[in-house]
Amino acid sequence: MFEKEYDVIVVGGGHAGAEATAAAANMGSRTLLVTMNLQTIGQMSCNPAMGGIAKGQIVREIDALGGYSGIITDKSAIQFKMLNKSKGPAMWSPRAQNDRMRFAEEWRIALEGTPNADFYQEMVSGLLEENGKIVGVRTSLGIDIRAKAVVLTNGTFLNGLIHIGEKQFGGGRAGEKAATGITEQLVDFGFDSGRMKTGTPPRVDGRSLDYSKMIPQPGDAKPEKFSYLDTQKLTSQRDCHMTHTSALVHDLLREGFDRSPMFNGRIKSIGPRYCPSIEDKINRFADKDSHQIFVEPEGWNTVEVYVNGFSTSLPEDIQYKALKSVKGFEEVKFFRPGYAIEYDYFPPTQLRHTLETKLVDNLYFAGQINGTTGYEEAASQGLMAGINAHLKINEKEPFVLKRDEAYIGVLIDDLITKGTEEPYRMFTSRAEYRTLLRQDNADLRLTPKSHEIGLATKERMQKMEQKEAQSDKFIQFFRKTSFVPEEINPILESLDSSKVKQSDKLFKVFSRPRVSMDHMLQLESVSKFVDENDFNSEILEQAEIQVKYSGYIEKEKNNADKLHRLENVRIPENFDYSKLKSLSSEAREKLKTIKPVTISQASRISGVSPSDISVLLVFLGR
Ligand code: FAD
Repeated sequence: MFEKEYDVIVVGGGHAGAEATAAAANMGSRTLLVTMNLQTIGQMSCNPAMGGIAKGQIVREIDALGGYSGIITDKSAIQFKMLNKSKGPAMWSPRAQNDRMRFAEEWRIALEGTPNADFYQEMVSGLLEENGKIVGVRTSLGIDIRAKAVVLTNGTFLNGLIHIGEKQFGGGRAGEKAATGITEQLVDFGFDSGRMKTGTPPRVDGRSLDYSKMIPQPGDAKPEKFSYLDTQKLTSQRDCHMTHTSALVHDLLREGFDRSPMFNGRIKSIGPRYCPSIEDKINRFADKDSHQIFVEPEGWNTVEVYVNGFSTSLPEDIQYKALKSVKGFEEVKFFRPGYAIEYDYFPPTQLRHTLETKLVDNLYFAGQINGTTGYEEAASQGLMAGINAHLKINEKEPFVLKRDEAYIGVLIDDLITKGTEEPYRMFTSRAEYRTLLRQDNADLRLTPKSHEIGLATKERMQKMEQKEAQSDKFIQFFRKTSFVPEEINPILESLDSSKVKQSDKLFKVFSRPRVSMDHMLQLESVSKFVDENDFNSEILEQAEIQVKYSGYIEKEKNNADKLHRLENVRIPENFDYSKLKSLSSEAREKLKTIKPVTISQASRISGVSPSDISVLLVFLGR
């Protein structure tokens, strides 16, 4: 059935696997996606939403690199919001509610339309390895399929164990089998593995809810979108709603605590701290007698509703009784109870920056298997693993993004350098250079790099070049053109900003904190220039950000340049740390395990102090 050797086999068709397949195939590798259920490609296991704070930036980066998540999100969106719009542009974060079924369907259509991508539905139960190198996979039917590289993206499926109250059963997601065999074999190869936990809320029948008792949460009046390509913006949207738990609801939930797998010791692994279950919130914040609940529709044509904020693994009777006491949920009918799931992961310090494992050549890990949580985190790793698998088997240079180039760079560097003991999700605070890593400029940052390695298409590149040229032209116009005081002073006066006495360049007045592009457009010279050049809203926004934040952007670029100097000091591959007696013993152990490739990476390892770095620098002759 599979006589020929594939270039790349991707195991698992979740967010990571779907992006890995698309990337490897689009770069020219003959790629096979083997997944347990072809109906659930790109399935959203938990909330029907993409993006959000820091995660939205990641989706924009995936899109800029030529991945599919942004396009799929736009095609299946039912609501769009730009979060943090009241803060500086570095914090603006796009988020979309999605039609869960359409999201998965669009993924399948996109992958089926990708030449070089083949599909096969079965569980992979083992890996084929020869002389420290991966050469293929073995399926549960005993079929061997050979490949030059394998990307594992098993998500929450490896020895997955689902908990609802005192009941527990094997599964990778509700209604789906767990995957077995792979963990045990990887441990035999010498990999460390661990267990993590995550949970999901009940899904309910929207027809049984009383929305008049809840607060509507509409999308943006002028919805934007994710992809830099010509996808459609939403012309109509579905509202979400907000309601709250109460002291009564908390008391009812507490009645089930003795049967809770979280509290009776059945669940031992660590869950996502920033996405706690409702029982965890009640326990940890005992003084709070109310928590927000967001009621999110699951799609355009379904009555199913996702109860965001009510993730729980309490017994189903307790879930039902407590939810019935939430305002608007008095007549609630359940579609599915909430549950928690424990699964195997592999500490990501066992990986290189390319996501290739250090132990077995040409074997890549991406997504939740690396201890992350979230679709966006998974998808971006899948994309990078797919790219790097293709590059490696074609003997090309690896594709690694630096911390000042992309959130994806921050994510992967954090994972492989620091590891993670709890499910890792991205936050803006994890990025040192967030003024550079904005959602508006992901194409300017990343599309040229991706085009160079043969992934981002010519169309993407041309769009990016046009945007860059137009915004540069506009910025030059602000630098060169002068205003007259009579024209600008009424605007400044209305803003309580001090008046100007003499003519000066537009750039200077536009840099003032309260002066926005809308104010600048009131000047005849500016509005005429915009009309003549047919600039769209994206160019206006880009120019505004680049003028108003030029000082911060410059400063961060300088800081990043300093970092690059350390980034250029490479540590030889099999460097013997035991001969450096002046290193602290903790630093020596960590450096031996993580094997950083540069001094800069070494400096980010927890337990490696500035004085350890000095010792290394002296030894390396710097
Ligand atoms: P998954 O989406 O899990 O996909 C794995 C794929 O691999 C599946 O298609 C599976 O069929 C396939 N597969 C696995 N093993 C094999 C095998 N051996 N052979 C063939 N195919 C295989 N994220 C959040 O950000 N917030 C949350 O609150 C949250 N809650 C969650 C709650 C639950 C119950 C679950 C299950 C997940 C939750 N997540 C949450 C996590 C989110 O779903 C994942 O981060 C994301 O889906 C990971 O993507 P992935 O591609 O790594 O894996």
